[in-house]
Amino acid sequence: MRANMPYRQIHLDFHTSPLIPGVGNDFDAKAFARTLTENHINSINLFTKCHHGFYYYPTKIGRVHPGLKPGLDLFGEQVRACREAGIRTVAYTTVVWAEDTCDLHPEWMQIDEDGVLGARHPFNESYNSEVRAWRSLCMNNRDYVEYMKAELREVYTLYRPDGFWIDIIFQFNCICPSCRKEMLSLGMDYHSHDDVMKHDRMVEIRFAEEIGRFLHGMDPSLEVYFNGCPAEFDQADDMALSTAQRRRHNDFIDIESLPSEVWGYAHFPVLVNYVNRMEKPITMMNGKFHKTWGDFGTLRNKAALEFEAFRALAYGTGICVGDQLHPNGELDQTVYNRIGEVMAKIQEKEPYCIGSRKLTRVAAYAGNRVLENERGFSATTMNINLANEGVYRVLSELKIPFDFVDFSDDIDHYELVILPDHVRLPDHVARKLSSYLKRGGRILATGQSGLKYDTDEYALEEFGLRYVGPEQYSVAYMQIDNSQFDGLPEMYHVLYMRGIEVKAERGEVLSWLVESYFNRTYDRFCSHRQTPPKPYPSDKPLIIQNGNIISVTHPLFSDYAENGCKIYKDVLGQLIFRLIQPVVKGNLPSTAEVTLRELNGETVLHLLSYNPAKRCHTIETLEDVIPLYDVEVAVRMEKAPQRAVLEPQGIAIPVRYEDGYACIMVDRIDGHQMVVLS
Ligand SMILES: [Zn+2]
Repeated sequence: MRANMPYRQIHLDFHTSPLIPGVGNDFDAKAFARTLTENHINSINLFTKCHHGFYYYPTKIGRVHPGLKPGLDLFGEQVRACREAGIRTVAYTTVVWAEDTCDLHPEWMQIDEDGVLGARHPFNESYNSEVRAWRSLCMNNRDYVEYMKAELREVYTLYRPDGFWIDIIFQFNCICPSCRKEMLSLGMDYHSHDDVMKHDRMVEIRFAEEIGRFLHGMDPSLEVYFNGCPAEFDQADDMALSTAQRRRHNDFIDIESLPSEVWGYAHFPVLVNYVNRMEKPITMMNGKFHKTWGDFGTLRNKAALEFEAFRALAYGTGICVGDQLHPNGELDQTVYNRIGEVMAKIQEKEPYCIGSRKLTRVAAYAGNRVLENERGFSATTMNINLANEGVYRVLSELKIPFDFVDFSDDIDHYELVILPDHVRLPDHVARKLSSYLKRGGRILATGQSGLKYDTDEYALEEFGLRYVGPEQYSVAYMQIDNSQFDGLPEMYHVLYMRGIEVKAERGEVLSWLVESYFNRTYDRFCSHRQTPPKPYPSDKPLIIQNGNIISVTHPLFSDYAENGCKIYKDVLGQLIFRLIQPVVKGNLPSTAEVTLRELNGETVLHLLSYNPAKRCHTIETLEDVIPLYDVEVAVRMEKAPQRAVLEPQGIAIPVRYEDGYACIMVDRIDGHQMVVLS
């Protein structure tokens, strides 16, 4: 397995209805490969079979697409043409979604907990990925597993692709006869939703393990990926079913994250900050679509494509642009010219990116708990929970590069560990944090973080706090005065989300909670919205510092992600900088993102400035690149750098070293700029 995948990839969707005739009629292998090479593509995922369940090569396993041009081996010709052009070829197939296989083998379908065959409600015309729009097959059906092996063996034997991209490794709460039988034999209860979910996950992991071993048994050099969310956050409370088990069976990780319609612009940075500290090559997958997969007749705005691609570089990943081939088999020149413009720039920038390593000093525990009214994060959803989104937004806007970590990770090398909003601690993690503190570590905890995993008491005596209960008042208010918070607006600031009430047994209280007069109910209310604050603070501590630990009783990260009050970010920023020195300072706007990477002993600073906006009712996108001028940046470094060079332009700029910071000025940033400090 190579350390890095090619950085300029296409994922060529080809889910083609059997009702469409003339499939591949205009396919020309030479023109196909030429379009890719002219547009700087060096790797492509090509379809052996699609979600409609039909095959695009002469298979003996299933049925060839009925509309495919007679005699055409579409996949085979694509592979041969790309290989001749030096493009890496990865064979795509789909496991759980394959409609024709459902028709041929209804007995292989999943049955969900509502008894729905194929886990797709009948007569549902929705395309939305929130509703399952394809019928599902069960990966726990032995005959189907053997079928998939035969298919993969056939593809490998006929075409020798460089790798396999194996899609839809998801069980949807399956209680089919195979699953019920197995659950019984394992002592699991299929009446219990939790047990069914656990079993789903067991099946997913086992399938990837078995198929991965099978493929590597044929050829150890094959690069295999199972699209089943190996970047999912993991508190590792059940190691056997942990996401680490999923990751083990993948040779690389694709973060599928088309930022419009479903995933949003916060999804990729949340996931990548979790996986980009691990030793696996990663690719960011977006799309050429305006919205999402299958959005025919659309072209992604160039600024949006650039932002997504350059942000991927800044976070240390390659780029895979999703496209869908027209049924006639011809790549769209207009689309490839658009993609090619961006790929050309990636080609110039990638020498400063490939093989680089992330530099961070701050860790945040990735919360995977789902609270009331909060979007969940499970293996089958594409959402991120609010606390994680809040951590990304706050830290990224404050220019603090960070890692998301889970309970199994080592934390000793971080200067600061953040426990955002609802990180309750199992005993082994409490012990880890206690020894981290003894070695000089620092902790910022918000909301109910720091409480024990299963009881309402603090897991660490060092917090100096006693839990009283959920805060009685919601909304409540936060007292801010300039004796503790320099330059922040002095007033009682609303806290929209409910926090907890604690007693401080020791330590310094930096802010007191201000109660509202009463909680709003049907017969007791004031004005249009929330009840105003009482005119004086309560005796309930809201922000408490005990040595190297700062605790905030309210979930400020989630509240910031939900409601966006700048004061939450400003307060969190001042608390963080009470505990550690800033890593990056300067006059960058809040919308700019900064990452730091290390390559061959040099520090690569990535500066990104793009402004996605919700300018229509359905999605966020961007059209313009608005340049930034006279950008001052100071990066905390142990030693004075000898020089600073803007890359890939190769222009040296002055750098001075002051109080532990390397200070530079960049005249102009057009979206993305790298600065190599050496
Ligand atoms: Zn099943």
